[in-house]
Amino acid sequence: MAGNKAVFFDRDGTLMEEVHYCNDPANVRAFPVAAAALEKLRAAGWLNVIITNQSGIASGKISLQEYQTVEAELSRQLCRLVDAVYFCPDSPAAPTHRRKPGTGMIKEAVRDLGIDPARSWMVGDKGIDIECGRAAGCRTILVKTGYGTKHAGSAPDHFAEDIGQAAEIILANG
Ligand SMILES: [Mg+2]
Repeated sequence: MAGNKAVFFDRDGTLMEEVHYCNDPANVRAFPVAAAALEKLRAAGWLNVIITNQSGIASGKISLQEYQTVEAELSRQLCRLVDAVYFCPDSPAAPTHRRKPGTGMIKEAVRDLGIDPARSWMVGDKGIDIECGRAAGCRTILVKTGYGTKHAGSAPDHFAEDIGQAAEIILANG
């Protein structure tokens, strides 16, 4: 079952509004178009997988419990249309294979969920998301939400205004 297709999503600035070191579920705001985008992708056979760097955990700005309450609130706002979440607590001061642009989290998802990277996409608002997706063998989309307008030089396969348009691009390209 190594042939599943997935869309790997960055979290902050891609699925929800960018909040610096979000540690409070009250500050979680999924983009209004996000749930509908995930629903369309699921209906077309894609797994929806979040791949997120959360260095605030290593630095003590976010406790693991706070991270989990934020993740649960986002899952609720996204109508439980997220199939799996992989997060990396590691500090950028000591980069690891898991921390984006490292491909460790995608590789874990590929193994756990029987995903074929060549059939899959990575969507994010930063150059590290694009670099990670490309290195993992996925097609890539840079959204303009979050930090996206500052990362236009990251050479994604496609640009999208937001997660809604990203889903349309994926559905159109298969
Ligand atoms: Mg982001």
